[in-house]
Formats: sequence, structure tokens, C-alpha cells
Amino acid sequence: MANMTKTTKTKKAPAAPVTTWADLLAATRYELVTAFNAFLSMVVAIQNDWFHERGGCDNCGGVGGTMEHYTLDYIHGEWTECSKCGGKDKGRVQGFVRLSGNLSNNVELIGDWMRFMKSELLETYDEYRDALVRVGIMEREDEENRRIAVGKRVRVVKGRKVPIGTEGFCIWVASPYHTTDRIGVKDDTGAVHWTNRDNCEVIKATGEQRARFEQEREAYRLKRALERTQEVRR
Ligand SMILES: [Zn+2]
Repeated sequence: MANMTKTTKTKKAPAAPVTTWADLLAATRYELVTAFNAFLSMVVAIQNDWFHERGGCDNCGGVGGTMEHYTLDYIHGEWTECSKCGGKDKGRVQGFVRLSGNLSNNVELIGDWMRFMKSELLETYDEYRDALVRVGIMEREDEENRRIAVGKRVRVVKGRKVPIGTEGFCIWVASPYHTTDRIGVKDDTGAVHWTNRDNCEVIKATGEQRARFEQEREAYRLKRALERTQEVRR
């Protein structure tokens, strides 16, 4: 959760700065994460005061010691018991430890502590978490909306072969196993253009365009079904 800033794609100098929905979502996420981290820091300070007030061990922070050598095999790491409490303080203060370091790694612990304390801060904590989940859902929806797929209306924005501005419905996308990411775009005159997926962006189809595309698709399906029955008869 720590570093959620998104790198924006570099585009050829636009006339005016274009703020996309994706940019707005990324900015919202960044603001939320920043505010949430500030809130968590505050809670950690309160939690650590609480820990000290109850005589928690200052030296080991209630962990009971330190792991001197981290190995991939945890069992063979060297555990040194705290010189101050001799390891006796391990989780003694209601099972909680003093928190430090990376906040995002301790989010659950901080939440647990607030629940244990029946803290009114918990409401704010849950609001932040819910907001972050909602932003995540909106980001995934946005990615899905912008993903080029068969049946979506697209516009050619780059490339040399197909005129920029050509619009139509995507009728074919190369399988992921193809080295080139080609797509087929059927324009409103019925002509099909072949181009790279990266040359296109998804746009909104009008109701009329959508209806016509669906009708053509249905007509094609019926035609294919008819052809198949004729093949069987032969
Ligand atoms: Zn200790």
C-alpha cells in the first residue's frame, strides 16, 4: 500500500493537459494513502504510549528478542533473547508489541489493537480501508473499460496505415500467443481495418451504433448457421 503512485504514459505534447479518469483515480488513491498513513502514524504513537504505560519492554518492544541472522530457513536463524527482559516480555502487554517501521506491514496489527481498545478511531480506520477498496474497484473497472476486446467501439489514434480518427467496432483480436497484437476494426461503411491494438483506444458507442453492430452480428450468425445446415445436407 506504500507506493501507489502510477506512472502516466508519455504522450506527444498535447495542446492542453488532458486529465483522464485513470489520472483522477490515481491522484485520489495517492491522497487517500497519504492521509491513511498519517492517520496510522498517529494511532501507532497512541498505541506505543499505551505499551510504555503498561511497562512494556523498551529494549525489544515486546517481541522478546531479536533474530540475528535471517536465513531462508527460519528455524536455523539465531534468536537472541532480549538482554533487558530476558525474553519474558514476549507479548506480555495484552499480546501487543510496540510498532515501528513500515506502516503498511502493520496495518492489520494496528486494526487489531483498535478493535481490542474498542477505539472510536476504528470508525475512521474502517472508512479509509473502505475508501481504498472502492478506489481499487473503480480502477479495475476503468482498466476493464479501456481494454480493447471484440464488440467494443474503438478509434484509431496512432499508426500510419489506417487513417487517424477511423472509428468502428473491434471484430477480432489476435490471441495472446501471437507476437503482434493485431486487431480488426469494422467501420460504419462495413470496411475492416487491420492495425495494432496499441494504435487504438476504446470509445463510447452511441445507442444507434451499438444497435446496428448487434444486428449485423446477429445477421452474420444466422447466415453462418444457415450455411452449416446446407453443408450438412450436401
Ligand atoms: Zn525485552
